Amino acid sequence: MNKDEILAKFSSEPDRYYKIKLFEEQGFARKSCVTCKRFFWTLDSNRVACPDHADDTYSFIGNPPTSKRFDYTEAWKQVESFFVKNGHTSISRYPVVCRWRDDLYFTIASIVDFQRVMGSKVVFEFPANPLVVPQTCLRFKDIENVGVTGRHFSSFCMIGQHSIPNNKGYWKDECVDLDYRLLTESFGINKNEITFVEDVWAGGGSFGSSLEYYVRGLELGNAVFTEFQGELGNHTTLDQKIIDMGAGLERFAWITMGTPTAYDCCFGPITQKLFQKIGLDTDSVKLTKYFTEIARNLEKFQDLSQVRKAAIKASHLSERDLVKMITPLEGLYMIADHLRTLIFAISDGALPSNVGGGYNLRIILRRIMATIDRLGLKLDLDELIDSHIDYLKKTYPELEQYRAEVKTIIGIEVGRYHESKSRMEKIAQNLKSQKKTLNVDDMIRLYESDGVTPDYLKEYDVISEIPDSFYSKLSDLHQSEKKKTTEEFDLAGIPETDLLFYKDDPVKFDAKVLKVIKNKFVILDRTSFYARGGGQEPDHGKINGQDVIDVTKHGNVVLHEIKGISPKEGDIIPCEIEESRRANITKHHTSTHVVNSSARNVLGSWVWQHSAFKEKDYGRLDITHHSSLSDEEVRKIESFANGVIQKNLPVTIQEYERGQAEQTFGFRIYQGGVVPVKSVRIVKIEDFDVEACGGTHVKRTGELGLIKITKSERIQDGVIRLEFVSGQAAIDFVQKQEGDVMSIIKLLGSNREKLVKSFEHAMTDSEYTKKKLKQLIKRTSTTSAKQAIEASQNFGPVKFYHTVDEELDEEFHIAVGDEAIKQTPTLIYCALILKDSGIRIIVFAGEQAKFKAGDLVREISSKLGGSGGGDARFGQGGGKDTAKLADAIAHAESVIKKTVNL
Ligand SMILES: [Zn+2]
Ligand SMILES: [Zn+2]
Repeated sequence: MNKDEILAKFSSEPDRYYKIKLFEEQGFARKSCVTCKRFFWTLDSNRVACPDHADDTYSFIGNPPTSKRFDYTEAWKQVESFFVKNGHTSISRYPVVCRWRDDLYFTIASIVDFQRVMGSKVVFEFPANPLVVPQTCLRFKDIENVGVTGRHFSSFCMIGQHSIPNNKGYWKDECVDLDYRLLTESFGINKNEITFVEDVWAGGGSFGSSLEYYVRGLELGNAVFTEFQGELGNHTTLDQKIIDMGAGLERFAWITMGTPTAYDCCFGPITQKLFQKIGLDTDSVKLTKYFTEIARNLEKFQDLSQVRKAAIKASHLSERDLVKMITPLEGLYMIADHLRTLIFAISDGALPSNVGGGYNLRIILRRIMATIDRLGLKLDLDELIDSHIDYLKKTYPELEQYRAEVKTIIGIEVGRYHESKSRMEKIAQNLKSQKKTLNVDDMIRLYESDGVTPDYLKEYDVISEIPDSFYSKLSDLHQSEKKKTTEEFDLAGIPETDLLFYKDDPVKFDAKVLKVIKNKFVILDRTSFYARGGGQEPDHGKINGQDVIDVTKHGNVVLHEIKGISPKEGDIIPCEIEESRRANITKHHTSTHVVNSSARNVLGSWVWQHSAFKEKDYGRLDITHHSSLSDEEVRKIESFANGVIQKNLPVTIQEYERGQAEQTFGFRIYQGGVVPVKSVRIVKIEDFDVEACGGTHVKRTGELGLIKITKSERIQDGVIRLEFVSGQAAIDFVQKQEGDVMSIIKLLGSNREKLVKSFEHAMTDSEYTKKKLKQLIKRTSTTSAKQAIEASQNFGPVKFYHTVDEELDEEFHIAVGDEAIKQTPTLIYCALILKDSGIRIIVFAGEQAKFKAGDLVREISSKLGGSGGGDARFGQGGGKDTAKLADAIAHAESVIKKTVNL
C-alpha cells in the first residue's frame, strides 16, 4: 500500500481525518510547511515550518522547554500516574523476546504485546481497556547510530497508550486530548511549543490516519488510529478499531533535562560513573553545540559519517576534542545502551548465539568488547550490570531476579570473544596486508563464517568506516523464519472431526466414514487417533481391520492414512488404536515436560524448549543453553527429573482463554511455540511445570516410572539436544545396558565388582602390547626392507616391489617402505593391505625412482574404485574392489615401464 497516496487522500479531507475536538476548542491552525508542504497543526501564529524544518529544531538541548526535570524513571512515574488518574490500567511490560508471535524474535513496539496471529489475520487482545504500558522494545536495524546520534537506542521504552473505542475505551478526540494534557499539565510544556503533524500508518493489511506530536523538533509520540482494512479506495472500516499511541520514554526524559544527548538522562547514574571511571573531561558547552548540530544534520545527510563531519565543522571542534572527548563518549554511550539491551534480553530468556535473534545479541556484545579494546578501557562489566539493574528495577522490578544469570551469560560470551580474538587477528592482518577493499557482502561473509565483526575490522584499520547498510542487511538476513509446508487436501464442506482423545479417549470406538481421499486417506466423524502434532507422533492401530500408518490434522479435520482396503463412505466402522504404542508415546510426552523443567532448574532460567519429538521408543528435547553439557550436568538433570517422578505429582489439563492463561502463567507456557487458537489447553504438573500443549499425558508423574537420559549433544550454537527414554522404554534400555556390561565381564573373565579394574588392566595390557609391537617392527624393518629389495623386479633403472598383505597393517609397511627406499633410492615400494573388506594402499618412492609415490597411488586407487594421493616420496589411499588387485598391480607395472621407456 502506498503511504503517500493515503496521506494525500486523508490530508485532502482534514476535517474528516485530522480535525479533532481539541484543535477546535483550542483554536489550532492547520498549516502547510513552507519547505516540505507537510500539513501540521499549531497554536503558534508565527510558525510556518514543520518540526523538521523549523528554526527551533533541537533548541531544547541546553535549554529545556519545561520547568520540571524528570530522569528516565521519574518520567515514567509521571506518565503512568497521569494515565491512571485518567481511567487507564497500567500493565507490566511484556517480555522483549516475542514468544507469542512466530514471525518476530523481539518485541518491536508496544502494540505487538496485544497482537495475536490467527491464520493470516492479526487480532487484538487487550488485558484492559484503555491501558498504558512501559514496553521495552528491541530494534537492531540501525545500531551503528547508537552512541553517535544522541537519540538512537538498541532498546528503548515505548510508552504504549492503547484503547479500543467502545463503552470503556475512546477514539481520536480523547486520545489526542490526553496526550496534549500530558505534555502541558504533567510536563509543563507551553502549548505554543506543541506541533501535531498529519501522517498515516499502514501495515498488516490495515491502515489509518495518525498525528505525530513534536516539541522543538523532537518527535515525542505518534498517535495512530487504525481504522480501515483493504486497499485505499476499496477499503472497509475495521470491526475492531484501535488506538495505537506510542511514545519514546527516553525522549520525554530528554526534553525535560535538555542534556546534550538522550543517553545522559536515560541510564541514570551510569554514564556519569563511566566518565569518572575513565577520567573523561566533558565540556558541556562544546557537547551541547556538537550534539545539537548532529541532531539537525541527521535530517540533511544520508550518511552518518557526513553527519558527523558536518557537526564537527559547525561546532569548531579540534582534532584533540575529537580524540579526547567525542570518540570515547560515543563508545561509552554505546556500551551503556548495548549492555542494557542484553540485560533485558537475557532476563527474558534469550541467549547470544549464531542463529535467529540470538545473533543480534552476540553482535552487540562483540561491539561492546571491540569498543573496550579500541579505547583501551578498564571496565568491569559485572559492576555495570549491577548499576543498570539497580537503576532499572524501580520501573522493572523483575530484572532483580535475573541479576546472576545475566552476569553468567555475559561472562561466557566475553570468554568466547577472547578465545576467538587471535583467529580474528590473523584474518584481519591478512586482509590488511592484501590491501583488500571490502564491500558489505564481504563483511557479512566475514562475520557469518569467522565471527569477525566490522567493528573489529575498523579497530584494526582494515576498513575506515562501517557501511550504514551493514547492520540492517544483516538483521534482514536473520529476520525471517522458515514456514513449514504440508500437503494440501480439498476438505471443503467436511465438518470438523470430533476429537475423542481430548474427551474420554476410548481405545475402541465406532465411527462413520465421511470421506476417503485417493483411496487411502480416511476421514471419520469422530476419532481417538491422535494426529501428529506438537512433536508428538501419531497413533497407529486399525480402522475396519486395516492398518493405520499415519494420522494428520488439517485445520480441524483428521486424516487417517491406511494401508489396505479403504472403507466405504457412509459406513459405520469399528476402529481401535494400538494401546501400548500410545502409552509409550504419552509417557515420552509428559517426560519431555519433566526434562525441560528439570533442565531449567539445574542449568538456569535461559533454558527453553527449542523443539521436541516424542516417539514410542524415545523422546528428544532440544533446549536453549550456551554450552555443551558435562556428564555431571546430565546426571543432575536426570536425578532432578526422577525426583519429580518419585513425588508422583498430579498432571492436570484445563482449557483457558488465551489472554487469561498468559496473565496467570506468563509466557513460559509457550515452550512449544505459539498457539494460534483463542482457547489454550494448559498442561500443569502441579507447581513444577506449566505449558500450553495439545498432546496426550499421564495422570500422575509416578506413571513414568523412570527417566533415563541416553544422549546429550550440542547440535547448534545455543541449542543442546537431549535424548531420553521413560516407562517401559527406559527399563528396556537399562536391561540392554546391563546385558552389554555382562558380555564385557564374560569377555574379560572378570566379575561385576572388579569390572572397572579388570578393564583398566586389559587396556594397559593392550597399550603395552602395541608399544612392544612398534619396537619389534622397528627392529625387524631393516631385515624386512632388505627382503623387499631382493624380491623387487628391475624395470630398467628402477626397482619395483609390490605385496598384497592380509596379516600386517600399514604401520608395518610404512616402517619397512621408508627404510627400503633409504637403502635403495631407485626403489618403488608398494603395499596393498586388505583390511575390513577394503584395501589400503601404501607407496614409497626413492629419490631416483623416477616416479612420484602420490601419482602411483592415484593410478592404483582408480583401478580399485577408490582414491588417494600424496607427494613424491610417500603416498597413500584406499579402494574397495578386491577382485581387481591383480589388474591394479599390472596397471602399476605398465605405467612405471612407460615412464622409463620400456
Ligand atoms: Zn517541512
Ligand atoms: Zn507438550
